[in-house]
Amino acid sequence: MATTTAALPDALGHFGPYGGRYVPEILVAPLDQLEAAYRQAQADPAFQAELDDLSQRFAGRPTPLYHAKRLSRHLGGADIYLKREDLLHTGAHKINNCLGQGLLVSRMGKKRIIAETGAGQHGVATAAACALFGFECIVYMGEEDMRRQSPNVFRMRLMGAEVVGVDAGSRTLKDAISEAMRDWVANFETTHYLLGSALGPHPYPMMVRDFHAVIGREARQQFQELTGGLPDILLACVGGGSNSIGLFHRFLGDESVKMVGVEAGGRGQALGDHAARFSGGSPGVLHGTYSYLLQDDDGQIALTHSVSAGLDYATVGPEHSWLHDQGRAEYVSCSDEDAVEAVKLLSRMEGIIPALESAHAVAEAVRRAPAAKGQKFLVNLSGRGDKDIGIFRETLPDLG
Ligand SMILES: *Cc1c(COP(=O)(O)O)cnc(C)c1O
Repeated sequence: MATTTAALPDALGHFGPYGGRYVPEILVAPLDQLEAAYRQAQADPAFQAELDDLSQRFAGRPTPLYHAKRLSRHLGGADIYLKREDLLHTGAHKINNCLGQGLLVSRMGKKRIIAETGAGQHGVATAAACALFGFECIVYMGEEDMRRQSPNVFRMRLMGAEVVGVDAGSRTLKDAISEAMRDWVANFETTHYLLGSALGPHPYPMMVRDFHAVIGREARQQFQELTGGLPDILLACVGGGSNSIGLFHRFLGDESVKMVGVEAGGRGQALGDHAARFSGGSPGVLHGTYSYLLQDDDGQIALTHSVSAGLDYATVGPEHSWLHDQGRAEYVSCSDEDAVEAVKLLSRMEGIIPALESAHAVAEAVRRAPAAKGQKFLVNLSGRGDKDIGIFRETLPDLG
């Protein structure tokens, strides 16, 4: 099973029953064109060499693998290691995907890029890549998210991006994606849609995963060099699913390695209070792909909530749905409150302030560690917490 899982998706973009392409007819040709360009680039050593070079010199790869000794001692059980994607340029793993797609687009000859963003992290990484490659950049963002994440709006504009507010629906990520798709349908001949997670129609879930798989390739080698073996458990937060699948992918064939994805448990278990697609959802179609989805009894997309905007989305990348059904990865959720506690703990124990998204994975490691003496946990620290300082101030008022 392990090797066949690693070889997915099939030629039509399916991971078992999940994935595929649920798009208007007009987008089939541009998706085919994108897939062909991607497969050609993937097989071209010159493309890989240029991407490796940019990843090093522009983004700061390889990121360190760090043994969190004080945190591990404090918990008194498992040894916890952190993959430091938070140290990358623009503050999170997202730049891996933006450099990959940016380089691909420079080969395809398109000059206009559109993207969607929730918290603004993908928008900032996209704006940086567009400045680097000299592309026109338009970022769709829900007006509610623009208000909550105004420093990121400013960063994008500083790097030359046009940020377009979306005043529809809940005025958040789901609405921004719908708007970006509408733009793409109208302008695909000149425009590339730089999708920000391992989501959407084929080939995006495969391509975005491949651009992030460097996380797991590096981490696996670093872990062996540092400890002489492999980790027992991988832990990563799951929004759309890109940082987690990037960590997991290289380990899929290592049967001794368990994988745990952590979703947003939000403020409660009622529909609308969380973004835990695996415990609270069922398969359905949103934004071009078939995957686990939070929906009501009539199939209407449910509202979601999380303290971390990056995990606050109604569906999840299709490969995770497959890994879930196969039992190859386990999916759990972590509440807003526990994520904020984990931010505090990691900050005090290690001097590392994690992004609220990443703190969901840290919280699950903290929960499991005391009962796991002798085990080694590898946690993907997908981003840094600077962007969340405003939220920390609201949730931790005792710090002033
Ligand atoms: C966007 C984001 C996430 C969630 O996205 P995935 O595609 O699930 O990785 C997680 N962590 C950080 C820091 C982010 O910016």
